[in-house]
Amino acid sequence: MSRRKLIAGNWKMNGRKADGLALIEQLLKLRGEGEAPFDLLVCPPATLIDRIGQRLNGSPIWIGGQDCHQAESGAFTGEISARMLKDMGAAYVILGHSERRQLYHETDALVRAKAETALAAGLHAIVCVGESESQRLSGAALQVVGAQLLGSLPEQFTPENLTIAYEPVWAIGTGRTPTTAEVREVHQHLRGQLTKRAGKAADRMRILYGGSVKPSNAGELMTLPDVDGGLIGGASLKADEFWAIALASTQVSA
Ligand code: PEP
Repeated sequence: MSRRKLIAGNWKMNGRKADGLALIEQLLKLRGEGEAPFDLLVCPPATLIDRIGQRLNGSPIWIGGQDCHQAESGAFTGEISARMLKDMGAAYVILGHSERRQLYHETDALVRAKAETALAAGLHAIVCVGESESQRLSGAALQVVGAQLLGSLPEQFTPENLTIAYEPVWAIGTGRTPTTAEVREVHQHLRGQLTKRAGKAADRMRILYGGSVKPSNAGELMTLPDVDGGLIGGASLKADEFWAIALASTQVSA
C-alpha cells in the first residue's frame, strides 16, 4: 500500500511575524508550483496562522495549529478553539504532543476530546503518542504507545481526518533517535492497533515518525515501511533543512 508522505513542521513557540513570513517565502521558493511526491504542512504559533494562512492560500503548502481546546467555544480565557483555527485557514491540528502531555498534564481522554472537537470543526487531527525513556528501557514502549493510541482516538476517525505521529519523548529535541528496527516495530504495532479499530482503512492511514529528524537521518527514517512522513520540530525552523527532509523522504534529489 503506498501512502503519500506528509512532512509536517511544528514550529512550537518560535518566531515573530517577520521570521515566520521569511521562512514561508523560502519554503515556497524551494517547493515551487509543480507536482511533488509528498505533502508539506507547517504549524506555526497561533498568532501567525491568520497571516501565514493568507500567504499560503492557494499554494501547495498546508497550514495547521499546534493545539486546540476541547470545547467548541466559551469561557476559557487564553484558549483557542478548533473552529477558530479552521476559520484562520488551518487544515490540520497537532494534538497530544508530548510537551502538552508532560507540561500541561494532558491525558489520553483529553486528547481524544480535543480530537473529537477538531474533527467536528473540519480539521484533520495529528494525534501524537510516544514513550518516555524509562518506559522504553523497561520494555514497555509498545504497550505504552498502544494504550495512548487507543485512549486518544476519536470515534469517527478515517484516513482522511486523522494521522498518527509516533514521537518517543526521549528523542524530541535531543539529537537521539531510536534504531530503525525500533521505529519499524512501533509503527507496525500502531498500524496493527488501527487495523483492529478501523479494518482495511488503517492501510491508508498515515503514521509519522517524529524526534530529532534531520536531513542527515531523514533518508533512513522516512523511507522505512509503515513510516509515512515526519513531524519535525527544530529542523522545521530552517527552510533548507525542512525541504531536504522532505526530499529525503521520497529519495528525490535536490
Ligand atoms: C517535535 O517536537 O515534534 C519534534 C519532533 O521535535 P524535534 O524534531 O526538534 O526533535
